[in-house]
Amino acid sequence: MIPADIKNTEIRDEFWSRKQALVRKEVIPYQWEILNDRIPEAEASYCMHNFKAAGLLNEKMRKKGDAFEAPRFTYRGFAVFPEKREDAKEDEFYGFVFQDSDFYKWIEAVGYALMTGPDPVLEETADRAIDIVCAAQLPNGYLDTYYIINGMDKSFSDLRDHHELYCLGHLIEGAISYYQATGKEKLLKTAERYADYVASLFGTEEGKINGYPGHEIAEMALFALYDLTGEERYKNLAEYFINERGKEPNYFEKEHPDMKGKPDYYHQAHIPVREQTEAVGHAVRAVYLYSGMADMARLTGDAALLNACEKLFDSIVNTKMYITGGIGATHLGESFSLPYDLPNDTAYSETCAAIGLVFFAERMLRIKADSKYADVMELALFNTVLSGMALDGKSFFYVNPLDVIPENCKKDERKTHVKPVRQKWFGCACCPPNIARLITSLGRYIYTEDENTLYTHLYVGSDTTKAVNGKLVSVSMESGFPNNGNVKIAVNGAKGSGFRLALRIPGWTNGKYRLDVTGASEKEEKDGYIYLGEFSESAAIDISFDMIPRLMAADSRVAEDNLKVAVTRGPIVYCMEGVDNGDKLRQIRIDKNVSFTEEMSGEFGYDVVTLKADAKRIIPSVSAPRPFGELYGEFSSFEEKEISLRLIPYYLWANRGENEMSVYINI
Ligand SMILES: [Zn+2]
Repeated sequence: MIPADIKNTEIRDEFWSRKQALVRKEVIPYQWEILNDRIPEAEASYCMHNFKAAGLLNEKMRKKGDAFEAPRFTYRGFAVFPEKREDAKEDEFYGFVFQDSDFYKWIEAVGYALMTGPDPVLEETADRAIDIVCAAQLPNGYLDTYYIINGMDKSFSDLRDHHELYCLGHLIEGAISYYQATGKEKLLKTAERYADYVASLFGTEEGKINGYPGHEIAEMALFALYDLTGEERYKNLAEYFINERGKEPNYFEKEHPDMKGKPDYYHQAHIPVREQTEAVGHAVRAVYLYSGMADMARLTGDAALLNACEKLFDSIVNTKMYITGGIGATHLGESFSLPYDLPNDTAYSETCAAIGLVFFAERMLRIKADSKYADVMELALFNTVLSGMALDGKSFFYVNPLDVIPENCKKDERKTHVKPVRQKWFGCACCPPNIARLITSLGRYIYTEDENTLYTHLYVGSDTTKAVNGKLVSVSMESGFPNNGNVKIAVNGAKGSGFRLALRIPGWTNGKYRLDVTGASEKEEKDGYIYLGEFSESAAIDISFDMIPRLMAADSRVAEDNLKVAVTRGPIVYCMEGVDNGDKLRQIRIDKNVSFTEEMSGEFGYDVVTLKADAKRIIPSVSAPRPFGELYGEFSSFEEKEISLRLIPYYLWANRGENEMSVYINI
């Protein structure tokens, strides 16, 4: 099964078109300014600076030939920043070792944006930027500005930490997107040359580097490059990376002897990938790896690998995922924590990790249409991914907590990773361009297809076509998501083609839906999808799902959430904010028989369903005797106040200034 061609799917959706337009009009131009360090109040990126510096060095090398003395490697740290922006020297590297990847994610988003419609000015900017980036590539194909500038003699000497293969992965993904959008090959050829160079150096043969990426992504990127070019060598390199990971003797131990005997969970290199059953380590790396493993399982039919992917997916959703679709519970190593350890106020839940979970779920859907994957994809997308970006597209969350008291985040060192408002930019700016590329490529996540069947995973207003047995079938969808669950689909041109349409039944409906079909017949219900077939020349399908507010409780093993509930409605998770409810949100309690009133609010710039309910504020008080001073006294009763509680979608929190927020409510 493959994803429906993104160029073939035009999104025109009340909710998502707005987000896509925001990325196109605000986020992409803003990020271009950031990549060029032209936003004074944001942390400098130095991304384009580094490509220019590497290009200068390259030019010197070309002019002086053999007489040129290339820099000998000097370790300048994992992150290098000048004292002041104006102190930056034109031939030095700045930023994090993986800073190149910010451009690659940006150009990937630009490619997707250009697929949705022409923009000559943006394309011209991108072409000029690509010239700068390609000028930094060494004649042998190598392209990573950190080593080009700081000394190539140590390149690929620290695969675990220094991200050269990570940057390769993002370069490939960006290059593919830009090529598919414009037909221009320059960046794609640059990516292929870098991949070819890497392929010539890595392998199990004598004299080759027998390593693999410390930060995974090259695996899934190389499979995508194979899908595009049909060149087996890219598939082989990706398979090599996946097969070698975690084998004994451990490659990262060779690079870092101090790690000897310590299982490397952080990089998912503790055991070979086919033996991995629990999601561990750095959450973004993990889900990027699992996505590559799923690609390989799909392409090769490797049953052991597929089994590992299924177990790892289950490990995440059964024991390690927040109700918001966020993953990676601890800031220590930006990692998965123990099963059921899902703290709300110190949550890490990185935006990129939720994006990676979307990637992983979508790749599992390519293997098998099972709604459990699409449910998780939808959950992560509508909640943690969207939470990562402000309504104006100009500030971003890296960390997505579920419980915030702003003062604590600022003063408590254990919580300094939690920001109570979105930030303009981050020195380590993985998340903002990652959101941009995901939202602009949404067309890829709505459908997958095989020979005869179009599988609908997300209900997003859109038009698409599918070729079946020589006929071109057009499918047009109108969707009320996420405000209501009403979906209308028109199918034309399918008569006699054998075309089938599969419709996902979201998990939050408990299997209930209303379906009205004319011009096709209902065939069966399987793995959370309704299958329709025997289409007339034109068919109309009305399907609707009730979106009613629900109280959701966590499994009792999630100690943090005992005696608490979260409120969801359809795919949206709700939260309470101080601006609506006053501070000290932890005093609020709702009744298990609570009834919610839905109110359409325009205060966020478009129609948003907010919820109102009667609730109580329980004000703790203690009475004498207070044997140890003021803090503790004997309990008699707590004061109770009737209040009107207001809930808004979680992804919208912190758009009205700094204030308290909580997803979970006492019950
Ligand atoms: Zn990130």
